[in-house]
Amino acid sequence: MPYAYEAPVSQTLFDRAAAVTPGGVNSPVRAFRAVGGTPRFMVSGSGPYLTDADGRDYVDLVCSWGPMILGHAHPAVIDAVQAAVARGTSFGTPGQGEVELAEEIVARVAPVEQVRLVSSGTEATMSAIRLARGFTGRAKVIKFAGCYHGHVDALLAAAGSGVATFGLPDTPGVTGAQAGETIVLPYNDLDAVRAAFAAHPGEIACVITEASPGNMGVVPPLPGFNQGLADLCRNNGALYISDEVMTGFRVSKAGWYGIDGVTPDLMTFGKVMGGGFPAAAFGGRADVMAHLAPAGPVYQAGTLSGNPVATAAGLAQLRLLDDAVYQRVDAVAGQLAELVGEALNKAGVPHRVQTAGNMFSVFFTERPVTNYDEARAQEAFRFTAFFHSMLAQGVYLPPSAFESWFVSASHDDAAIERIAAALPAAATAAAEATQ
Ligand code: PLP
Repeated sequence: MPYAYEAPVSQTLFDRAAAVTPGGVNSPVRAFRAVGGTPRFMVSGSGPYLTDADGRDYVDLVCSWGPMILGHAHPAVIDAVQAAVARGTSFGTPGQGEVELAEEIVARVAPVEQVRLVSSGTEATMSAIRLARGFTGRAKVIKFAGCYHGHVDALLAAAGSGVATFGLPDTPGVTGAQAGETIVLPYNDLDAVRAAFAAHPGEIACVITEASPGNMGVVPPLPGFNQGLADLCRNNGALYISDEVMTGFRVSKAGWYGIDGVTPDLMTFGKVMGGGFPAAAFGGRADVMAHLAPAGPVYQAGTLSGNPVATAAGLAQLRLLDDAVYQRVDAVAGQLAELVGEALNKAGVPHRVQTAGNMFSVFFTERPVTNYDEARAQEAFRFTAFFHSMLAQGVYLPPSAFESWFVSASHDDAAIERIAAALPAAATAAAEATQ
């Protein structure tokens, strides 16, 4: 057993979970398969801390994979949720909260003229693609290797390295027909996009991209890449879909759009806008959104869409996200990125800390990472040692070398000090790691 500390209660829960749930988890990355060891079963969260079933607490650098930008159990969000729950949990009718959440999104993100609420980021991207196909009357979709848009069948396709190619299904259960209209291209490669449009005139419905990718580690768009995509789409009659499920309302008031100002036709949101509840959205140009049922012919629906508790949580969180909060989150992220870099430098570990707004991650390679192939070329085994050292010292990192780290406005000096104190030993562990 390579891990010198134990989590017996979590282990017992994991064993019970494995008996009744595939792999013991309800979302694969939670199982720690990439890093090994026992996943921690968390029982509570407060501000920047999580407490597991064994009674150990951790500074949380996952923040529920993005949503918890104010930290855990923020009193104003909890109050709003409790008030909403007391009024009833689901009506299956329109409600005021949905209108207010939609108004909040439209007010924050200029390209969003109309928005439809859904329950997960996956639903948002799936619906946006259907709408793009319905609007354009075309079938093909361009996506980029290393960009994750949820587990939408058509988007679970990855490229062979470096070449424009038709997508092959990435997982059993996705048929060739479902993935066959997906063209997977290398990220940050506008020439490949140009070539795909030239090869398939009048056939491409849309290009979907993470506004700034965080699902292969943090790999920001090169200058001009997003604008180039928007221009190519416009010139070829295709829609440009910017997936802001991760970046939306996290990296600025208006998400990545607030940083690069490139105007998409459609955008997708999730995570932060739900305040820790299942709420997500897609929206954009009013003339495109007008094609959505019941206004138009493209069908889309959901029993729990715009759920009153979820919308109350999301609204409460969004309304607290003012300039001061973003300044704080940016400052924490900047400080941590610097501390991590210093510790790894001191230990002589080849690495790059890459940032995109207040999202950041570490690649165990010296070369800049601009696409998925470069991300995969890192020495991920060093991350495993680094991760377990941090975990043993009470810092909870994403359990994979290919994920963004997330901080919150509640990460205070005490939380940062704990991370700073843990870093030297973790950096040494990374330096000493062998494949
Ligand atoms: N799009 C992006 C950019 C994401 O990061 C994710 C989830 O991590 C999704 C879509 C899917 O969202 P969900 O997990 O809510 O289905």
